[in-house]
Amino acid sequence: SIASEHAVPSELRSFLSSPKQLLINGRWVNAQSGKTFDVFDPATDDVIAQAAEGNSADIDAAVVAARAAFDEGPWSKMTASERSRLIWKIGDLIEENADQLAQLETLDNGKPFAVAKAADVALAADMFRYMAGWATKIEGNTIPLNVPYAPGSEFHAYTLKEPIGVVGQIIPWNFPLLMAAWKLGPALATGCTIVLKPAEQTPLSAIRLGELVTEAGIPDGVVNIVTGFGETAGAALASHDDVDKIAFTGSTEVGKLIIGAATGNLKKVTLELGGKSPNVIYDDADIDTAVAGAADAIFFNQGQVCSAGSRLYIQSGIYDEVVAGVSEIASNMKVGSGFDPSTQMGPLVSREQFERVSGYLQAGLDAGAEAAAGGAALDRNGYFVQPTVLKNATPEMSVVREEIFGPVVAAMPFENDNELKAHANDSSYGLAAGIWTRDISKAHRLAKAVKAGTVWINCYSIFDAALPFGGYKQSGWGREMGHAALENYLQTKSVCVNL
Ligand code: ADP
Repeated sequence: SIASEHAVPSELRSFLSSPKQLLINGRWVNAQSGKTFDVFDPATDDVIAQAAEGNSADIDAAVVAARAAFDEGPWSKMTASERSRLIWKIGDLIEENADQLAQLETLDNGKPFAVAKAADVALAADMFRYMAGWATKIEGNTIPLNVPYAPGSEFHAYTLKEPIGVVGQIIPWNFPLLMAAWKLGPALATGCTIVLKPAEQTPLSAIRLGELVTEAGIPDGVVNIVTGFGETAGAALASHDDVDKIAFTGSTEVGKLIIGAATGNLKKVTLELGGKSPNVIYDDADIDTAVAGAADAIFFNQGQVCSAGSRLYIQSGIYDEVVAGVSEIASNMKVGSGFDPSTQMGPLVSREQFERVSGYLQAGLDAGAEAAAGGAALDRNGYFVQPTVLKNATPEMSVVREEIFGPVVAAMPFENDNELKAHANDSSYGLAAGIWTRDISKAHRLAKAVKAGTVWINCYSIFDAALPFGGYKQSGWGREMGHAALENYLQTKSVCVNL
């Protein structure tokens, strides 16, 4: 069923009507070229704003500002406690502006407003607060030495943890505000300075966040935001010789380009890339909970989640029942504008994404998979596709091997654990996995065997600022969130003193 159209909330109109600029050295400026690009509402295909189209000249200016803020202060000269308080303030301001930020996410990305507010915005605020706590807890070690060629000498050795420097951060469009928070939080906590490049599909909430970062009192030049396209602004940031580290979240394909671009000055690289995550339901699971969880694992955020449970493995005795259950949820989902309170699934983010997902659906059906629910786009304005459950999918099909990044799950039966383990790990990705069973030993054994950075047992898509997230295999390098994320932004210096 289709929820009715809802207009842009009036509170957003003034924000949208002013030109959206770049944040460089604490000031909002136009792109040097004077160019702008259109920002679309994915629920209507209408242009809702213009954003500055930054390119390499703007990236240069932003890097100069970030370098000065890092080398000269005041950021790098503040105590960790002072930095901590400013980072915490960003969390407070996000919470104070929660409705507006959630509206921007709904408008720009399409996701349902209630989800944007409860998940994206709340998690973003929490991320800054969590990282504010870490700012004062970054410590080195003292290390006892035993130097074989210096008998009788006494050394005092210790490590210093230092911020890596100027950091480039390139983020995607699926959780625009939250991805900015995941990136900015640890970089600020460690004392780095930043040039952030939001996705061209969804620049608006990052721009609003830039205003809040300034309002919080983060000094000029510490957070710079350059909107623009990946091939120009993004590539210039990834290859910049005065950037010490690049953190990227996006497709595996572009992740490989980032690695290449980073080789010029061997800047450090962390990557959070694609996935094709297995979600496993054993026949001893609580079936109702598992069915609801399997639907949520793929349909949350319109399936535009790198860790989505897109390969659903169901033990053969319950295969028909689970497929029917997930299909029923899919068929009954309200698809429509994210501003309609009854909407459960919004549009995909962009026309390009809509075409990509539609192409995968067709390829799956052509290859012999069968739609137990959905299977097509919706015939209306905006980038809507039906929540889809594919059965009769086989391991070599593109819908089983490749990341679709849409609301499409391939449901496949398995007989026993050996067969399952081979299938679950038969992927070039390794981001996440789900396991549904009442047998805790079996659950933990599979959790150990599966090659994935996050394993959810009897739950799915549980994210927390304290819980590390990242990929095995081609799903990435490094971890985000948790204290693991700090390591991405720190250098370790060893100091050795002859006493
Ligand atoms: P998707 O294909 O899902 O849109 P991408 O990986 O293309 O995801 O995009 C994620 C982010 O990477 C966006 O901010 C985008 O602008 C940026 N990007 C795309 N191509 C490049 C590139 N060649 N160099 C640097 N950044 C890029």
